[in-house]
Amino acid sequence: MERKYKQFETRVIHTGYDSKEHLGSLSAPIYQTSTFTFETAEQGERFFAGEEKGYIYSRLGNPTVSVLQEKMAELEEGEACLAFGSGMAAISAVLLSLTKTNDHVLVSQGVYGCTYGLLKLMEEKYNITHDFCFMETSEQIRSLIKPETTCIYIETPINPTMKMIDIEMVTNIAREYSIPVVVDNTFCSPYLQKPLQLGCDVVVHSATKYICGHGDVVAGLAIGSQELMSKIAMTTQKDIGGILAPFDAWLLIRGLKTLPIRMDRHCENTMKLVEWMKKHPAIKDVYYPGDTSHPDYEIMKKQMKYGGGLFSFEINGSKQDVQNFLNHLKMIKIAVSLGDAETLVQHPATMTHSVIPEDVRLSMGITDQLIRLSVGLESWEDIRDDLQQGLDHLTID
Ligand SMILES: *Cc1c(COP(=O)(O)O)cnc(C)c1O
Repeated sequence: MERKYKQFETRVIHTGYDSKEHLGSLSAPIYQTSTFTFETAEQGERFFAGEEKGYIYSRLGNPTVSVLQEKMAELEEGEACLAFGSGMAAISAVLLSLTKTNDHVLVSQGVYGCTYGLLKLMEEKYNITHDFCFMETSEQIRSLIKPETTCIYIETPINPTMKMIDIEMVTNIAREYSIPVVVDNTFCSPYLQKPLQLGCDVVVHSATKYICGHGDVVAGLAIGSQELMSKIAMTTQKDIGGILAPFDAWLLIRGLKTLPIRMDRHCENTMKLVEWMKKHPAIKDVYYPGDTSHPDYEIMKKQMKYGGGLFSFEINGSKQDVQNFLNHLKMIKIAVSLGDAETLVQHPATMTHSVIPEDVRLSMGITDQLIRLSVGLESWEDIRDDLQQGLDHLTID
């Protein structure tokens, strides 16, 4: 597809918006309106019949939301994008549009907790079954594909263990069976990883995270072919209705302008902290795909620009030691979510992954000692010093 602006850094700022169409307003206006007026009854008829393009009602389309959608379609190098009121609204709209009763979904081992919940709900209500797969080898994937498999759904890197899946390996197999592949690209953003270029069919995002970047919006996005996005727009988006508000779209448009420079800083800070932490005596292990000693480093290099702004680590100690450490942090905030300017820390075993039965959780590598850090945009030395003084409170055997 022809792109007006060649470079990503330019597209985040200019794509999808022309100030000439908006009285010269440099910033995209917020069209805070529920509905749009028709000039004549006949025009209304043509809009509804699809014979003429125009805005009808904000659940069906809104000019501020359109700017965001056009930008994100270009940034992910897809044909079309739809914006939603949360990452889960985007994920559920996509999964429900790709499946019907008695279908099967093949899922990467380790997905976002509510995606796991959604899959369970789909099974209970509609008998849409699923299997989890580590997807380390093509044999593992092939052995779980069934005649009724209509979707392969993956997340990479996998939260919070930071294992990676080779997207191209998955999409090559999926193509043989004509099964669409959906990739949750939340942890990377299109600046670090472009799954559509690696052969996947749909990219979904929790735009709440790096796309927004400032911890002040909950939003979701789906990017894919015009055909599929139009279908979703007229079914699981229009009729279930999880749309994005114009003001939230505007905040995301603003956040996107600094995505490349924010991601560079997130990644640089993370690299430095990982290097420092690997040498710390209170630390048992550090998991970061951008680290050359990570088992999936080669996959990371193949499909990501840098290793990202998240890493996890295990301390030498107990659950109480973990909580003691977290309680002594001064600048770093204890919170789930990620991708914000502020460094955030959370304890997966008692927070994001606490609903998973203990044996399953442990088999996924999520121990009581595992801590996940979303590295912020502060000075890396200040983050390090806060981690250091927190770790000083641990008694090392
Ligand atoms: C946060 C998150 C989601 C859910 O997004 P919401 O915006 O909270 O609905 C989905 N996938 C991943 C990887 C996430 O981190």
